[in-house]
Amino acid sequence: MGLLAVYPLQRCAMSATDSRLLLASIHDVSPRFESEIDRLIGLLFPYVGCRFAMLVVPNHWGSAPIVPGSPFATKLRRWKEQGVEIFLHGFTHRDDSRHDHLGKRLSAAVMTAGEGEFLGLSRAEATNRIGHGRALLEAVTGYPIDGFIAPAWLYGNGALAALEEAAMPIAEDHLHVWSPQSGRTLATGPVITWASRSRLRLASSLLAAAMLRRAPIKVLRIGVHPPDARNSSLVKSICTTLGVAAKGRRAAQYSELLEARLRTSGRN
Ligand SMILES: [Zn+2]
Repeated sequence: MGLLAVYPLQRCAMSATDSRLLLASIHDVSPRFESEIDRLIGLLFPYVGCRFAMLVVPNHWGSAPIVPGSPFATKLRRWKEQGVEIFLHGFTHRDDSRHDHLGKRLSAAVMTAGEGEFLGLSRAEATNRIGHGRALLEAVTGYPIDGFIAPAWLYGNGALAALEEAAMPIAEDHLHVWSPQSGRTLATGPVITWASRSRLRLASSLLAAAMLRRAPIKVLRIGVHPPDARNSSLVKSICTTLGVAAKGRRAAQYSELLEARLRTSGRN
């Protein structure tokens, strides 16, 4: 049972009015990581209620499909009904492309451990995967998806063109949130995220979180991943970061950025 099910729904309504925003997200939502995801929801909920995004992978590594009608699909629908935003997060999350450009090869191998699925895709293949993933998630939840976020935040030119063609409402990378539909930037600033692949990465992510959680930026994004739930020092840093961020910020949804942008352009 998902942890949201045991919390009363009214706790999801946050009352703070601070204009600075906190956007939280859980990456790599897949049946493969079901227990870790439940634990991550338990970490986020006391700070942001249901105001967080789930980045869902339709078939993680090609061997963990989300099957309509399955218990996991039912959980996804319930999360969406309780206000959680659902983003498509690649299709398999695995980078099977052959990268001809040296920079892309380095990004794919060093930065992402081969998980930058949308870095080397052609426009046609990106369109195909976005279309299939979107149709699956919309059938499972009964709602339009809220946007698309590429695995490892890496987008090739084919992916960017496909997102524009699909009129995707929201996308993000390490430093920006934007609307492929309108071409507008919705927010800028780094994402706080954690890594546990090596001791060095773990130590540097703890340091970065400690520095960034007090940064005076308007929209602070915090992204957590399933392996984070298995590491006690990361769990501690995540809770401290959420506590600090939630004190001076209002937990928000990504879609509010679109509404704020619409209000701003309406005044112009
Ligand atoms: Zn991911």
